[in-house]
Parts: sequence; C-alpha cells; structure tokens
Amino acid sequence: MLGRRITEVILRRDNLRFPFPDEFASRITGRSVDSIRRRAKYLLLNLDDGRIILSHLGMSGRYTLFDSEKVKQFETTKNEVSRFGSATGFEGRHDHVEFRFDDGSVAVYTDPRRFGIMDLIEVGEEQIHPLLESLGPEPFGDWSAKQLAKKLQNKTTNIKVALLDQRVVVGVGNIYACEALHRSGIHPQRQSKTLVRKDGKPTKKLQRLHENVVQVLEQAVEVGGSSLNDFADVNGTLGYFGHHFQAYDREDQPCLQANCGGTIERITQSGRSTFLCPRCQR
Ligand SMILES: [Zn+2]
Repeated sequence: MLGRRITEVILRRDNLRFPFPDEFASRITGRSVDSIRRRAKYLLLNLDDGRIILSHLGMSGRYTLFDSEKVKQFETTKNEVSRFGSATGFEGRHDHVEFRFDDGSVAVYTDPRRFGIMDLIEVGEEQIHPLLESLGPEPFGDWSAKQLAKKLQNKTTNIKVALLDQRVVVGVGNIYACEALHRSGIHPQRQSKTLVRKDGKPTKKLQRLHENVVQVLEQAVEVGGSSLNDFADVNGTLGYFGHHFQAYDREDQPCLQANCGGTIERITQSGRSTFLCPRCQR
C-alpha cells in the first residue's frame, strides 16, 4: 500500500466494530499512502493530506494484498460481492473493504467477526485519540527497565496482570507474559512493587524480566507469531501452529529450566490462564 494512490474505495457495510467515519471512502480517494506505522496493535497509514487511517484488526481482521497481475486472476463481479473470495475465504462474504490503487493493485480487508476498527484521524490526533492516548511504551522502542520500574513502583497488583496492562507496556500478550516470567524466575502472583527497589530503581530480577520480555517477543516475531487458529499474513500465508513454549500450555509437564525438576501448573488470573513452575518462580 505504501507509496500508492487510492483510486477507489469500496465499503460493503456501514460499520465494523464502530461505524465507518462519515464520507470515509470519498475522503481518502485520491490520496497516497506516505508511510505506515504500528502503535501497539493499531496500524496507522499516513496519507499525503495529513490525515491518518487508523486501523485495528480486532479478533479476526486481515488485509490481503493483490498486485495487478494477481488481480487479473479474479473475475470481476458486481461490487456487492467480493471477487476475491477464493483467496480471502468465506466466499468473499466477509470482505468488507476494498482499497484499489493506481498501479492496479488491491488491498482487501476481511473480518468475519467484525471486531476490527477503521477510523480517519488528523495528524497529531494519535496522541489524544481515546484509543491511543493511554498506551504505554513500545517494547521494541527505547523502553528500559528503569521505565518499567517507575510504572510498577506503587502497583499492588500482581506482576502478570501488570504486564498485560497496556498502560504499563504494550504488546505483551498472555502467552508472552507467562513465558517471560518463567524465564525470569518470577512468580506471576508476585506483587509488582516488590520488584522495585526502595530508591525506585529496578531490582536484578526486574532487569531480567525486562530483558526477557524483549527477547521473548523478538523470538515470537521471528517464527511468525503464535496464533493458535487463523493468523494469515498479507500474502494469505497461514501463521505457525507448532510454536514451542517453555511454560505456556504445558500443565503437568516437567519444567524445562536447567536443574529445576518442577512441574508446570496452571492457575487463573483475571480470567486468563497462567502457566508457571512453582519451584523456580518466586
Ligand atoms: Zn522450574
């Protein structure tokens, strides 16, 4: 989509999770995509008029890109029905948005459950937009153990729940919180503030946790994520199913930390499953 001019936008519904903004299609037609960024799970497409398309995939959204050669392989049908159904799935019933570009390529947004979001905002508004304003730092940005300590300093909630809190740090999902805590030898029910020294600096353990969060996420990105069901990239390639975790989803199996000998247990925290080794996680 980058560097291409939008020549036509087809909306087959009025809404996803929320209604599309007024005149969405006409306001972005003719504009070029200058840059694309990610903030937490939001995609931000900067247009050449300063506006930004703000998009979120929700539970089941995906973009599939077809270059001009590929587009020719799909028979043109009436606009009410997507012609890309054989590639995007569901016979095209859930292809809600089509972006057509000046080079003949098409981006199709498919979303069976329709928890996705598409909004149009002004430049600078990303700092104050209600969905974005309270987001914490990006783990791959200039995030530090010191910053993490500051967020946890007075927190009495347990560390697992704090890691999932998008105001503390964004992008650490349930699986990776479990894995990072296991690697760091920290019990998921430990009170967050006990990982911060009296002077506000991170303890050794919190420094390890910070390093392990980054490492676990980097490794996950390398193997293509860990979606258990239906992740697909923009070429329609399905995600990886056989990701191996050290703690997550390994209830009653031996702990894989060297010389531990413990057994992985499952508990529930804030309605989510946590997997931990009670022997090496303190
Ligand atoms: Zn263990």
